[in-house]
Amino acid sequence: MTVEATDLAVLVEEIVELHRELSAEISQPTRRDVETHARSAVSASPAPWNDEAAGWVLTVEAGARDHEQMLTRIAFNGPSIRATTTAGSLLALRHLPWLIGHVQDAHPARKAARHAANDLAAWARQGRILLDQAKPGDEPWTNAPGSLTCPHCDKPLYLPPGALNQTRPSIYCVSCRDDNGRRIEFDNLTWLGVLNQRDTPNDAA
Ligand SMILES: [Zn+2]
Repeated sequence: MTVEATDLAVLVEEIVELHRELSAEISQPTRRDVETHARSAVSASPAPWNDEAAGWVLTVEAGARDHEQMLTRIAFNGPSIRATTTAGSLLALRHLPWLIGHVQDAHPARKAARHAANDLAAWARQGRILLDQAKPGDEPWTNAPGSLTCPHCDKPLYLPPGALNQTRPSIYCVSCRDDNGRRIEFDNLTWLGVLNQRDTPNDAA
């Protein structure tokens, strides 16, 4: 087994664990759903309550089968016989590291192996975000409200990953560092103050 195939196998085991946790969340109502259902007299919808978790699980299950099918066709010019069940999908998922490695070696010009490996990384990242287990780099930095710029370098300021879940997020300059080598931070009161000042009409006439 190459190092890369080992990495992919570790990634797949993480996805299997995320799949277990997110499948368990599908039957758990989100707060919004509880409020919706509390208001409605009849709760007849058989649809999963946690749409985000359900969407992730369906994407991973269908995607694993699709990638296995494509890679099997490239590698062996043959079909993959896999039931469209959760168990069948997880078998397909666990088959992918070996198949990806094989297609990479035997058919280096084909992009299917890289696409499958990219999807594995994306599924793990998305699953961690849904479970609030995001690692650094999983979520993108987003532009600060009001296109605020850094007073030192004039570049755009950013909200860090997860900031939208915080009540009073700071914003940061990703270019400037302070004396300790940390990103320059503007706390919530400071940058809201700048925005408010800008919104106040200039009544000096
Ligand atoms: Zn700056």
